[in-house]
Amino acid sequence: MYNKERKTVKSILESTTTNYSTVVMGWVRTFRNTQFIALNDGSTNDNLQVVIPLGSVDDATLRRITTGACIKASGEVVASVGKGQSVELAAASIEILGDSDAEKYPLQPKKHSLEFLREIAHLRFRTNTFASVFRIRHSLSFAIHKFFYDNGFVYMHTPIITASDAEGAGEMFRVTTLPLDGSAVGEDGLINFKEDFFGRSTNLTVSGQLEGELAATALGNIYTFGPTFRAENSNTTRHLAEFWMIEPEMAFYDLEDNMNLAEEFIRYIIKFVMDNNSKDLAFLAQRLADEDKQKPEAERSFPLLEKLEFVINNNFERVTYTEAIEILRNCSYNKKKKFRYLIDEWGVDLQSEHERYLVEKHFKKPVIITNYPKAIKSFYMRQNDDGKTVAAMDILAPGIGEIVGGSQREERLNKLTSRMKELNIPADEMDWYLDTRRFGTCVHAGFGLGFERMVQFVTGMGNIRDVIPFPRYPKSCMY
Ligand code: ATP
Ligand code: MN
Repeated sequence: MYNKERKTVKSILESTTTNYSTVVMGWVRTFRNTQFIALNDGSTNDNLQVVIPLGSVDDATLRRITTGACIKASGEVVASVGKGQSVELAAASIEILGDSDAEKYPLQPKKHSLEFLREIAHLRFRTNTFASVFRIRHSLSFAIHKFFYDNGFVYMHTPIITASDAEGAGEMFRVTTLPLDGSAVGEDGLINFKEDFFGRSTNLTVSGQLEGELAATALGNIYTFGPTFRAENSNTTRHLAEFWMIEPEMAFYDLEDNMNLAEEFIRYIIKFVMDNNSKDLAFLAQRLADEDKQKPEAERSFPLLEKLEFVINNNFERVTYTEAIEILRNCSYNKKKKFRYLIDEWGVDLQSEHERYLVEKHFKKPVIITNYPKAIKSFYMRQNDDGKTVAAMDILAPGIGEIVGGSQREERLNKLTSRMKELNIPADEMDWYLDTRRFGTCVHAGFGLGFERMVQFVTGMGNIRDVIPFPRYPKSCMY
């Protein structure tokens, strides 16, 4: 935009005018017959064909037009006579900006596996698949901010380094400047955190919710959108050690308001991407369809575009935990012992195999499960009158499983403190949190959406490590 002379490939391909001079810069995808360059600059997956008239560029320069090289091409945009594109650039001059040794360049012009590309994550942005994924990730981020902005929510930055470790959402990474040579241990054999940077033990946050509640009970509706960290040793296609989470928190919302917001929000951001990234989505839909052709019928996924279309046009199914357990207990998978964990008694936590059965086999649409047993949920969830369940809601999506976890929060001070006592959560460390209940408490609710799981859902990518630029997971932290 601010580079006066340069146009993007996207703007050239989208424009209907021809016969004007311009300059493009980008990376060579292929070069054939010492005449036709397929040039990509990341603005779209479509390449611009740059045609070099015979004899117009010297041999030494021609030899340097190799896969991966960065070039500047100047010339005239003309109607293309060849198949596959309506316009092309008739080059008047080519300047090599950055050479690329084609023999050594890891990205050969052929199909590479996602596993291989994960090993060279620093270069995978240069493939169509990852360029599409990251343009969609960008669009989704923008849509999230737009949705909340348009609905009057305040974007709140909750801390990344936190002193609160009571949330219990997952294992935490410690933040410390203490020496690792053992000298930080005091005479009592314990680490002396008084000597640490903050004078106390600190961690990377697992969730911004508790701080979000402080803001919501003053500003009304707020949301967070930032990185969260879990030192859980889960080597799955749905867990990262560093991931981004969106956590809206709303004063005066009950559980049902919370679910209604979550549904509308999810539909909105999916629709935004369908409206604004149709080419990238079509590309990824085709990629998924091709990948599925290699798989047995039973393992194939739903066609991507139809799946997204279905989600924006249909309400999610809402069932209570108790109803879900009944369905699972009586289903053929359970009776034929096809689950690894058989469903027997009320009170057990749902494993991802159960979640996927409900979503993919039973209801065949996204499902919201409400009112879980209090024993398997966090202390801050509002206790229901039955004495057994809490006003929780999890949203389960096809192919992913849990995508949202939320609840109405316990706003009654005595109920909250007695639950904390039962769970041995020290109330004195949580005094700041309890103050919201002491002074002008109110009904409120909120949820957390795992951003990468949402990107997975929209792009159809099977592994969460392929929807974040630089994934962190057990035994792997590159760059
Ligand atoms: P799961 O049971 O899948 O591990 P959770 O119950 O630990 O999820 P919450 O603590 O409710 O999840 O977190 C809110 C949301 O954050 C989840 O619904 C999910 O979308 C996302 N999430 C949780 N853990 C991870 C992780 N390790 N990597 C990526 N996203 C995650
Ligand atoms: Mn978890």
